[in-house]
Amino acid sequence: MSETFNLTGISSVAMHTAGHNNAEHAHLTPIYATSTFTFDTAQEGMERFLGSDKTRIYSRWGNPTFTAAEETIAALEAFGLKDEQGNPLQLKALLHASGQAAMATLFLSNLKAGDTVLSHYSLYGGTYELMHKVLGQTGVNIRIVDMRDLNEVVDAIKKDSTIKLVHIETPANPTIQCVDIEAVTRIAKEKNLLVSVDNTFASPYLQQPFKYGVDFVFHSTTKFLNGHGTAIGGVLLGKDLEKMKTNVWKWHVLLGGNSNPFDAFLLSQGLKTLELRMERHCANAMEVARFLAAHPGVAHVNYTGLTSHPDYAVSQKQMKHPGALMSYELKGGIEAGKQFIDRLQMCVRAVSLGTVDTLISHPASMSHVGVAREERLKYGITDGLIRMSVGIENIADILNDLDQALKLH
Ligand SMILES: *Cc1c(COP(=O)(O)O)cnc(C)c1O
Repeated sequence: MSETFNLTGISSVAMHTAGHNNAEHAHLTPIYATSTFTFDTAQEGMERFLGSDKTRIYSRWGNPTFTAAEETIAALEAFGLKDEQGNPLQLKALLHASGQAAMATLFLSNLKAGDTVLSHYSLYGGTYELMHKVLGQTGVNIRIVDMRDLNEVVDAIKKDSTIKLVHIETPANPTIQCVDIEAVTRIAKEKNLLVSVDNTFASPYLQQPFKYGVDFVFHSTTKFLNGHGTAIGGVLLGKDLEKMKTNVWKWHVLLGGNSNPFDAFLLSQGLKTLELRMERHCANAMEVARFLAAHPGVAHVNYTGLTSHPDYAVSQKQMKHPGALMSYELKGGIEAGKQFIDRLQMCVRAVSLGTVDTLISHPASMSHVGVAREERLKYGITDGLIRMSVGIENIADILNDLDQALKLH
């Protein structure tokens, strides 16, 4: 493609950002399974070490298979957006071994002892534990508020001058709460605070946080970006290119949470169908939500595509569609939840989310079985709550499976 040819659609960007400019003219960016790269001369070695592209030196520092995935995800998050000067937004992405590794880089490269991170109370478990068990030990303070109440955000920022980073996860597990990215970012930017968004549940196809002036976007690529459940991975994206290439990159390589060429290759293949998958995931999810909301065995459905969800308006404002995740409360508590799960024929019993097939879990007997009942109730994880990541199977089969599994109630 010439530099003047602009791609106008997000699927074209997903498929054609990485290009084919490798030495062997391979159609797909190859799996560069190599720990290190060779230099023809001392001079060349010196130039690569001094240059801004650190991808052809040592694979902990970068690798062309990582670069293909990183550049594609950066292009997706920046798609159609402009920077403050009105030029197309440029982002730098750093691929990691897991979402947790990318989150560690985000927090540790931006926070030091005495600083505070402000976040929402409904957080991914790994993020919550990383904050409290790892960050806490480094002397960083954690302040958790309900960010859906903007007064709580304003109040926290006004009272605490040590807050440096505001971390938003939206939509969030398991009740699909949404935080208004634009409103929270506006409040944070009045005090020049950094803002990061965990965009894992939405994917860049449904939600682009950089539109609202945030500094960092995070994904567990394990979920919708990979899309097929074939690899664990994480990515951290930033718009301050200089900082991403120096300070943030330095923490990343020193912590050693680099990806690997095979997982990065799988991720690159998954990214190409992101738009198609998300369209189908969301269309199916809407039908599932309507079906469950009308079912006599179901007490309540948490899905932001339904007007009954308290964050319906925020979701409509900042997301293209309400997404593929939902949770619902069965009548009959923990026993009803277990029986329902056991009766499923096609939907898959598993934690995780964002795979092409439908995944269903029962937090009270699975992911949160070790959490005290009182504690999990505070986070909306009631006894009969079922979490569902709606897949792209044919909708009739998903509905039939749910229908027969609900027959007991
Ligand atoms: C899965 C997940 C993570 C952690 O990512 P891993 O790839 O499992 O390390 C973080 N945030 C959210 C919202 C997730 O769903």
